[in-house]
Amino acid sequence: MQKDRSWTEIDLDNFAHNLAELKRFWGRKDFMQIVKADAYGHGAYQIAKQALELGAVYLGVANAEEGALLRFQGISSPILILSPSLKSEIPIIIENNLTPTVSSLEFARELNKHLENEFPIHVNVDTGMGRSGFSYQAAAKSISQIQKLDKLTIKGVFSHYSAAENDAEYTHQQTERFFQLLEKLEISPQYVHIENSSGAVNAQVGFANLVRIGLLSYGIYSDASLRDKLELKPVMSFKTKISQLKTAQPGDSIGYNRTFTASQYMKYAILPVGYADGYDFMLSNQAVAVVNNQLCPILGKISMDMSAVDVSQLENVDVGDEVVLLGNNFAEIRAENLTKLYGGSTYEILCQIGRRAKRYFRKNGKIIASSPYLRRDFVPTDFSDKKLTNIIETAIEHRLQSKEIANLIYEDVLKRFFSDRDRNIHYRRNFRHTIEFAPASQPDFQDYFLAKTTLNFSKILQHDYFYVACAPDEDKLEQYFQRTDVEYRWLLDTNLNTNQFAIDSVQINGMELKHTASHKNGCLEIRCQHEKLAELVGQEVEFSISTRTYYPKSSHQLSVYLIELTQGVDIRFIFANILKEVEAVPIFSGRSKFPQIMEKEGEIRVKVQADEWVFPTSGVVFVY
Ligand SMILES: *Cc1c(COP(=O)(O)O)cnc(C)c1O
Repeated sequence: MQKDRSWTEIDLDNFAHNLAELKRFWGRKDFMQIVKADAYGHGAYQIAKQALELGAVYLGVANAEEGALLRFQGISSPILILSPSLKSEIPIIIENNLTPTVSSLEFARELNKHLENEFPIHVNVDTGMGRSGFSYQAAAKSISQIQKLDKLTIKGVFSHYSAAENDAEYTHQQTERFFQLLEKLEISPQYVHIENSSGAVNAQVGFANLVRIGLLSYGIYSDASLRDKLELKPVMSFKTKISQLKTAQPGDSIGYNRTFTASQYMKYAILPVGYADGYDFMLSNQAVAVVNNQLCPILGKISMDMSAVDVSQLENVDVGDEVVLLGNNFAEIRAENLTKLYGGSTYEILCQIGRRAKRYFRKNGKIIASSPYLRRDFVPTDFSDKKLTNIIETAIEHRLQSKEIANLIYEDVLKRFFSDRDRNIHYRRNFRHTIEFAPASQPDFQDYFLAKTTLNFSKILQHDYFYVACAPDEDKLEQYFQRTDVEYRWLLDTNLNTNQFAIDSVQINGMELKHTASHKNGCLEIRCQHEKLAELVGQEVEFSISTRTYYPKSSHQLSVYLIELTQGVDIRFIFANILKEVEAVPIFSGRSKFPQIMEKEGEIRVKVQADEWVFPTSGVVFVY
């Protein structure tokens, strides 16, 4: 927070408070925590974890990818995909054991075709929302057809309210339609649900046994009438700091198009936040912000990256002072009131605000976690060994619950690696990788850093040669992941050509190898060999590969992947004084899911102990 231009704070205690308030209404029903759209901008993983601890039996996401991300992060609870899925998403759904919502027969049949085993689904019925789902008049027939599909099990039937927050009559009509449909069904699914969070408070449907809780749990009133019924505390706040102080004389205008003109002497502050940070353009000249615990009006148009706030009334105000733009301490800056200023949606402002900001999660008054700026970008697409990944995920999952079981599974995974005789196991030991960024001296490469990398590891030599490969895009790079004779791969920026990648040195056991470059299909393949290597095949040798290339400044992230079983990892990213803030996001499988991260001036280092195994695919993303 010290270093941030703006940040969001997610108060998990308030979240727990809201759930406790809501639970008074849903009573003995089960609840599904809705975490779609990154939990309405609050961070799906932390919210999911918290909700599951507080008794949620399901999580609700918008699409397969959101569900897959939660699985990747180690969430094992049932996850319902609320929107209709596309056929192309079926493999992801199955692979990640997500529960799809079925809204058409065509999708149901297609899904059934892909399945080998029994698979749970929920069926969506449109009782008047007028959006996805089988229309309530025709749903009974469709549901009986779905039942005939041999692999699908209808675990739930649900509907969705259109206006549970403020239209009791229409809500009642939807409830009736849903009830009558359920009467007609030959099945009684485990879960019957229709209430969103407003519905859970206002409708309290007796025949439903699951509620789907979103907005209200985030502490936002969907309608003013709910204030009398329960006390909600906003979970999210959005904060920034004053970046400059200025004064205006009568007649001076502030911001684009001169929509605000000072009529008297004024003192105002520039905030490093604009609509690109999700601070809505429509708040221009309308919103207020809290500076040093006082409400201050926003002046002029909100720009993309900046805005101005009137601080004339404040006596002591300084550059660096904290400013609250959305939060809890004043009613005026609650999401309900900010959006009222322009007729906007609270759901929308939560999703958009703090888009460029780091998120801090607070619990019991302490910051327990944070998520990086580019949080949506860092999931590797390469999960080549799916089955293994599943085993590893199970191991991680269990590790959370029982260390003993986790250790057993961990040992078991290793045993599988080594005792399966059909499998020629390649593993690396003592993996040390250093990536060093330096300014690029040539004028043509202003937009790049010079990137020097050195990779060292021990491994049994397979052939009397190996390759270092460099590809211009991910698809082309992919082929080199499949090849066992490639020991180093580099993804080149699209605007560079392969001349901008070179080997400085390549050695085995300290012996310099000869290397010859050739071009193939837009890729650079460098063959490394030496007549003496033939004698070393089958023995463990020490590889050392040093390269030199350029890396785009605009990328803001650099990933290092571990695609082989590896024992002992030490990855260093050295950026001297050319980068300010760098963060390491490790995505490790194995017992060391949380490697040691060490930071010092100009360097960040991610390390696991020399005897500790790391499973593929693991990696670390350095975000700068
Ligand atoms: C988003 C969503 C919810 C949650 O609604 P809130 O109003 O945020 O409580 C519930 N059900 C479905 C199907 C949804 O898409």
